[in-house]
Amino acid sequence: MSGELDLSDLREIASAATDGPWTHQPYGGQNQNGDFSGGSLFGGDGEYLVSEVADEDGAHIAAFDPPTALALIDRLEAAEAAVARVEALHRKSPLYDVLAGDCEHGDDCEGVEAEGEVLCPEHIAGYTCVECAELASDSADGLPEYPCATRRALESPTDG
Ligand SMILES: [Zn+2]
Ligand SMILES: [Zn+2]
Repeated sequence: MSGELDLSDLREIASAATDGPWTHQPYGGQNQNGDFSGGSLFGGDGEYLVSEVADEDGAHIAAFDPPTALALIDRLEAAEAAVARVEALHRKSPLYDVLAGDCEHGDDCEGVEAEGEVLCPEHIAGYTCVECAELASDSADGLPEYPCATRRALESPTDG
């Protein structure tokens, strides 16, 4: 498998497959005819799904049966939604440093209001995090830089 996982495709496939829990019966040694009885997979209804499957593969397939796959997809989607909510909260905001009109646009400048002033939107000195800036507004340390500590933790877990 390569590229992006398509979770809705995977959900559709898992939903259409035989319901779980799938069970794996490993290789059972030789049967009464002297043949090796192969490993087998059974669906939640007890019907044969696959026979003659290698033990490691059978154990893997049974462990990742459709209900398990659906639970993993649910957990991944919930985790991604949580990250998206944090990213939306800790969003990037530009810091303007030239008053509208003091720029090359003169009186035609489309000023933006920020910090009680009207500033030129094309002169950006840097960025800050809106959420962290609000939390820090009572401190004398100035505005936090962007990305803030929260965004850095999301983007690079080792760089905390
Ligand atoms: Zn301007
Ligand atoms: Zn932040």
